[in-house]
Amino acid sequence: MKAVIVRDHGEPSGLSYETMDDPVPTGRHVLVKVHACGVCRRDLLVRRAPPTRELHSPLVLGHEISGEVVGLGPRARGFQIGDRVVSTQREYVCGHCSKCRTDRETLCADLRFLGNQAMGGYAELVLVNDDNLCQLPEGVDYVTASIVGCPVGTAYNAVCDTGLVRIGERVLVTGMGGVGTHAVQIAKAVGAFVIATTRDGRKAPMLKELGADAVVVAPDGQFAKAVREASGAGGVDVVIDTVGGPAFQQALRAVVLGGRIVLVGDVTGKPVEVKMTSIYRRGLEIRSAVSTSRRQLQMALRMVAAGQIRPLVAKTLPLSEAAEAHRLSESDELLGRVVLIP
Ligand SMILES: [Zn+2]
Ligand SMILES: [Zn+2]
Repeated sequence: MKAVIVRDHGEPSGLSYETMDDPVPTGRHVLVKVHACGVCRRDLLVRRAPPTRELHSPLVLGHEISGEVVGLGPRARGFQIGDRVVSTQREYVCGHCSKCRTDRETLCADLRFLGNQAMGGYAELVLVNDDNLCQLPEGVDYVTASIVGCPVGTAYNAVCDTGLVRIGERVLVTGMGGVGTHAVQIAKAVGAFVIATTRDGRKAPMLKELGADAVVVAPDGQFAKAVREASGAGGVDVVIDTVGGPAFQQALRAVVLGGRIVLVGDVTGKPVEVKMTSIYRRGLEIRSAVSTSRRQLQMALRMVAAGQIRPLVAKTLPLSEAAEAHRLSESDELLGRVVLIP
């Protein structure tokens, strides 16, 4: 098969389009012929960082996969040749730890992430254990479906399961990347009044189109005051913070007493200073949403099939142009994913 292998960590040019042996399904593997694979920010980070021992060798990136079942291991359950499927971000979870049994398999200590500890979807074929795949609903195409397991499902997790957003609540979404743009749509779909923040005023009309009731453009990142005004209620009930760092400090000032802040990203990874009193004296709840469980993927797929969410794909490129796809994704110019087509 053809696959893109990370030969040199660092620049996009380290991605090499090569021929390698076809993978062979064993145990509970499902062999998937990849029809589409999203390019995630995480892929860029893994490519840029020095290699670590936990990474699969050779390393094939990609965990946002849709495709068709073309082979089954002897113990694979629930799938047949020809099924249209979409992956969670994982190749394996243990299935029996307390996390796996409580819809939190994203925290399974034994999990193998696709495109990290296991070979990923920048390839014509990929192996995924059966409990890390979902059937693709009728009417949802492969390109659209590919990114539901990561940005869309994680937004579902943040808004619905972690944020517990209820109809009529005021919700702020920070950062208009993959998770943020879908969180806006999902919060709107569940009946919230949605405020979106962005540093880039050019994105404002599109965010309105996605369902934002108000857009706060803050090139300097200081959005708290404008958000309190836009809320019409002195602040928002829930913040879905996909940015972290200084945005978290602003979020603390944008939320009402007793409000909830959901952490679902940290763009810079730098520490920030926070006064504990600004949290506990105001009765705030700080929660975190860690990627997407299989059930959350199924729920997000239902919303996509029902037309309640539109997964944002900016561009498709052939798999052989993975390096160009990384350059485009790094530019931050696009609103939506780049998706590779083998
Ligand atoms: Zn992803
Ligand atoms: Zn587990």
